[in-house]
Amino acid sequence: MTSSTDAPGDALSGEAIDRRIQQHRTAEITLTVTNPTGETVLPFAGYRQSHRERLQERLRRPEWQAILARGDAMRQWKAGMRLPPPAPAQQARASQYLRERNAERAKKLLREGVRDERALVEVLGNWETALSGDDRFPIVFLGLVVTLDCFFLPRCLYCNQTWLPRRLTVDNWKGLLSEAAQPTPPYVYLTGGEPLQLGAEVWGDDGLVAFATQLGSAVNINTNAALITPQVALQLVKVGLAKLHISLDSVDPEVQGQLFQRRERLEAVLSGIYNVQIAREALGARHPQIHINCVLTARNIYQFPDLLRFLLDIRQVRSSGFEGKIKDDPLFGDFAFHLIPVGGSENALLRPTAEEWKRFYTETWEEAEHVWGDYQANVGVPQDERQPLAAHVPFANPFLRADHRMSLDEYCEQAALGNYWQGALTERCYVGPTQAFVLPDGSQHWCGGHAIRRPPPLGNVQGSMLRDNIRSNIGRLAEYPNAFCTGCAGATCVINQGTLRSLRKQVAEWLHEWDSSGNSHHTDR
Ligand code: SF4
Ligand code: SF4
Repeated sequence: MTSSTDAPGDALSGEAIDRRIQQHRTAEITLTVTNPTGETVLPFAGYRQSHRERLQERLRRPEWQAILARGDAMRQWKAGMRLPPPAPAQQARASQYLRERNAERAKKLLREGVRDERALVEVLGNWETALSGDDRFPIVFLGLVVTLDCFFLPRCLYCNQTWLPRRLTVDNWKGLLSEAAQPTPPYVYLTGGEPLQLGAEVWGDDGLVAFATQLGSAVNINTNAALITPQVALQLVKVGLAKLHISLDSVDPEVQGQLFQRRERLEAVLSGIYNVQIAREALGARHPQIHINCVLTARNIYQFPDLLRFLLDIRQVRSSGFEGKIKDDPLFGDFAFHLIPVGGSENALLRPTAEEWKRFYTETWEEAEHVWGDYQANVGVPQDERQPLAAHVPFANPFLRADHRMSLDEYCEQAALGNYWQGALTERCYVGPTQAFVLPDGSQHWCGGHAIRRPPPLGNVQGSMLRDNIRSNIGRLAEYPNAFCTGCAGATCVINQGTLRSLRKQVAEWLHEWDSSGNSHHTDR
């Protein structure tokens, strides 16, 4: 039995729960008590009643009771627990670096009388000159596709991964993490295939997450969650994982069963999610935060409000020990979701039509906003602090999140053809050199979009360093965006747009300063 100051047999009253939460903030022991029947229980005080009961029921299962009953093991998990480091601001870092490295070149042109904003932005945003002479430029985002294997066989209906053999060992991956971490640790994204198939090599005390976290990197795992047993969940909390991206497209077992190609997989995914929630509660942690990746297809597109309702029902409304405003709670962003339009030409039959997209972005999104509005009211967010769903999860909505330079009707026509980001791509790619994506055979690409589309790689990390591969290909950056960029990740388009805006703003400020200081008369002569 785990440590507890409540005598066995005490009823688990609200007061007892509050007392336990207070103790939990400072105690080194886990927050567990025994109920009248001798079972180990947790309060789950920050959850809504319906989900609290669901988690308590799961906790009563033998796999959790066996772990919680081993008090020493729980104490060790808690004692060795790490907190995730903060994630770097990707967009700000790219524009800051370009401005630091190229400002003098742009100002020189200004002094020589160049007033063309576009020409000045070109100089300020030039990666070739920025990297010249710098061997330690920042890699802000490191994507490691640790395996392309996945035990979901047959694979999900929309899976568009092309398999490659695993040639890199865990030591190779650790070498890349160390290399990228200097001078500033990147955000690390472990993905697959199914990365948790590597087991303790990912979540063990000496695994990749622990290693990267110790180096100062926030780590995110992109997973189907079905391998997250109670022990794995506790380990993920212990080693300081920052975030889990979990695939869930529908809560309708019929529809999700079709997309997963097996009906029972929905239960396996939910099991993994609930195990993470229990592990966080048992260890008094707010990490890893859970994000849901929902692939939008013609089969589930109108079910999004139901999925949202479900996610809001199972999310933690308040984290233990936090007493500020609900919207300031560190877990207020938990269970954010990411809507991903189904990609790949092989998935054309799963793609919604233009009319279906239009209905989604109007009626369905409006319904989702109502679901979110009701939730905010129900959990007590004051009227003047409530915000629209599109503002709360700004990266979620593929149309609203980026500037598409086209009307909604035009966008829906393009989306029906699988061109989701065509109108959102910037003329140049500014983000590629701040990222590295490495596949299991060691081949390195600029970004996640290319890691799927696979143009010729920048090189192979088995024969050359990450930064050397970037530098030796920097001349190729001028080719992008091109046909390989049609699957550019929405997040990357947004970062590119933000970087360009920031460069333009800088140039506009310089032009204004220059002109208002009277220099224009001098240079215009
Ligand atoms: S879980 Fe991911 S990698 Fe596995 S089959 Fe499904 S989409 Fe593919
Ligand atoms: S897909 Fe193209 S534009 Fe997008 S990040 Fe990659 S190289 Fe840049």
